[in-house]
Amino acid sequence: MEIFDILIIGAGPIGLNCGLEANKNNLSYLIIEKGTIVNSLYNYPLYMRFFSTAEKLEIDDIPFISAAPKPGRQESLEYYQGIARHKNLNINLYEKVLHVSKKEGVFEIETSKSKYLAKNVIISTGFYDIPNVMNIPGENLEKVKHYYTEPYPYAKQKIVVVGSSNSSVDAALETYRKGAEVTMIIRHSEISENVKYWVKPDIENRISEGSIKAYFNSELVEIKENSVIFKDKDGEIHEIENDFVLAMTGYLPDFDFLKHAGIDLQEECLKPSYNSETMETNVPNLYLAGVVCGGKDTHVWFIENSRIHAEMIVNHILLKNA
Ligand SMILES: Cc1cc2nc3c(=O)[nH]c(=O)nc-3n(C[C@H](O)[C@H](O)[C@H](O)COP(=O)(O)OP(=O)(O)OC[C@H]3O[C@@H](n4cnc5c(N)ncnc54)[C@H](O)[C@@H]3O)c2cc1C
Repeated sequence: MEIFDILIIGAGPIGLNCGLEANKNNLSYLIIEKGTIVNSLYNYPLYMRFFSTAEKLEIDDIPFISAAPKPGRQESLEYYQGIARHKNLNINLYEKVLHVSKKEGVFEIETSKSKYLAKNVIISTGFYDIPNVMNIPGENLEKVKHYYTEPYPYAKQKIVVVGSSNSSVDAALETYRKGAEVTMIIRHSEISENVKYWVKPDIENRISEGSIKAYFNSELVEIKENSVIFKDKDGEIHEIENDFVLAMTGYLPDFDFLKHAGIDLQEECLKPSYNSETMETNVPNLYLAGVVCGGKDTHVWFIENSRIHAEMIVNHILLKNA
């Protein structure tokens, strides 16, 4: 069986960047992806707009030509999938990596379809596959969505949007503008500081004029077939009619997968252990790249600041081989 120099898990923007870097340096590599190329981006809301400008989303200095300064989902799919196609990156799609283990200095990678061997492994699995659940009764009902795609299904419906991040605010504004009756239930005392600067005044004005109802310092306690129950800032319990809940409560990396690969998770935020100069984890030759690095803190790493990981990792591997 071929022993790859590098096996890369996940074909997100950062996994692709790692593949490009390995390719440039004549290292044999394989990227294994459980969905399509840039699967997280494929599953983003249809009309989302990045907060980053196009050039900050570029990988390997390949120009990202976008009509607007900040590209949307479709343009980013064109860009990243176009690179994978044009550079003929070695990627296996619709194949999930189940386990990574190490025997006698070589990694064995078991997937849903096969087994592979590699001298080095890069985990670039992101954080978009596991929703951060609220653990409240009724959360498993069909009407509760942890992924928001587009506003049209929610016309004339009573919607509860949970959270005050970019995803929550985009969902609240879009559904309100397509005729939904929107109530936001927000744990914090205000709309998140991280909300895109050109969107924040829009949501704040809609809330202050009463077009969108918002309960701050409040939390959902139960979801029923036709209503939701929440606790407000004074601890008072309310029950309101409801058709759909858009629980935009964020997402988490696959901590079990990281743990099984032998990576230590620090107590605070379950941040995986790695050397910030090389991206190597506590398991020698096992690296992390991209937004998976932040643990529960998913507001630290973005494409913008993690696209440098590919070069750091490949340089370290080359140095060890020298
Ligand atoms: C709505 C939204 C908007 C964002 N906007 C911006 C922005 O404007 N600017 C910015 O810099 N960042 C932005 N981000 C944050 C971040 O940059 C993205 O999450 C980006 O996709 C991270 O890239 P990545 O390659 O690290 O991970 P991902 O793109 O999530 O890629 C991980 C890949 O790994 C695959 N995978 C996972 N587990 C396995 C497995 N076991 N086996 C095989 N494959 C697996 C997944 O299917 C996925 O394709 C945004 C995030 C979200 C959710």
